[in-house]
Amino acid sequence: MEKEFLLAMPIIEALETRGYEAFFVGGAVRDRLIGRPIHDVDIATSAAPGDIQKVFPKTIDVGAEHGTIIVIHSGHPYEVTTFRTESGYADHRRPDRVTFVTSLLEDMKRRDFKMNALAMDKKGKIYDYFNGREDLQAGLISAVGNPAERFSEDALRMLRALRFSSQLGFSVSEEALYEIEKLAGLMKDISAERKLAEVDKLLQGKNVNAALRLLIRTGLHEYLPGFGTRSAGLHRFSGRSFEKLEANERWALLLYDIRPDDPKDFLKHWKMSGSRIAEIAAVYQYLLARLAGSWTEELLYEAGGKTVISTEKICSEQPEWSAERDAADRYRQLPIFSRKDLAVNGNDLLRIAGKPPGSWVSALLGRIEAEVLAGRLQNDREEIGRWLENWSRKTET
Ligand code: ATP
Ligand code: MG
Repeated sequence: MEKEFLLAMPIIEALETRGYEAFFVGGAVRDRLIGRPIHDVDIATSAAPGDIQKVFPKTIDVGAEHGTIIVIHSGHPYEVTTFRTESGYADHRRPDRVTFVTSLLEDMKRRDFKMNALAMDKKGKIYDYFNGREDLQAGLISAVGNPAERFSEDALRMLRALRFSSQLGFSVSEEALYEIEKLAGLMKDISAERKLAEVDKLLQGKNVNAALRLLIRTGLHEYLPGFGTRSAGLHRFSGRSFEKLEANERWALLLYDIRPDDPKDFLKHWKMSGSRIAEIAAVYQYLLARLAGSWTEELLYEAGGKTVISTEKICSEQPEWSAERDAADRYRQLPIFSRKDLAVNGNDLLRIAGKPPGSWVSALLGRIEAEVLAGRLQNDREEIGRWLENWSRKTET
């Protein structure tokens, strides 16, 4: 068993010693079965919150009324949650009633997706009441029970389905997708904080492009702050390359594509912290400047190292922008920047040719310009003079 589980094992053992049941549950069990790195190890138990607090010397009450107590063990916080059922979701976001129960099965029923309704005991035995392992095998995200009911209870689950599809590279079941398209509107009352937590994870997932397309296709994006009126930009964003970009850099690129009227205000609607808003908005601002021209010493100085690097990281991931930079470099190396830069002018041509003025002067200058740009003729008076002698000989014959 992975060390993350072994480190938390004493919690399971302490609860069992006192006659309670206790299991590892949720994401950690799922991730173990698909060989993903494990982060938070969560525990579910038949012990009531008050009992959990009595068993462990160091606890934090983060929501005893919902059954969740944080147990600090060897300096690490673990969420220990009493088995519970939930009922009466009048507002489509949280249960009116939470009832503590003593059965693991009842607790698993309230969970969102089959792959997340898995439990594991201290010996590593898996409790899989809804064939979650079949979904894991198939790379599928499907609801525990009736998807329409489950999404109506808590509308955030629709967004969670897409974020898991981004993180795991799984597909969302057709049945669930069908309901998401129908019920997307229920997301309107979900708090921006809860949406942000899921969208941040969605944006960091390995399958982010497909998940973003799904977000648009299902219409779920219409209920995300500032996304609804910016579908075209969001669509552009869904085709971007993100691989090496950190979360805030991805948001800056998003701003670039959807161009909100007021970027800081847009981020404020997502309930981001002030420092995060400042960081993202700065990268966005310099990204605009960087793409409009190139860095000047003043601009680099003003932006600061961190922002400069973030901006360049974003650009170097976008093939068309690196091409833009190549083009800028090539422009700088052009032999001339306008006809005025030619080593000869119209008067020179008149003198050399000894012919009366006419439209031929401009036409000839254009020929010379093209030859110089193509690199076939050096922008040098003598070189051009020789080329002209050749030219007049040809036109005379
Ligand atoms: P992550 O690796 O992102 O932490 P996770 O599966 O642990 O993934 P969490 O959001 O931490 O996801 O939730 C832990 C578990 O709690 C889930 O696996 C699921 O069983 C349950 N859960 C969380 N949110 C909901 C919800 N809105 N509705 C039903 N069950 C939920
Ligand atoms: Mg988790």
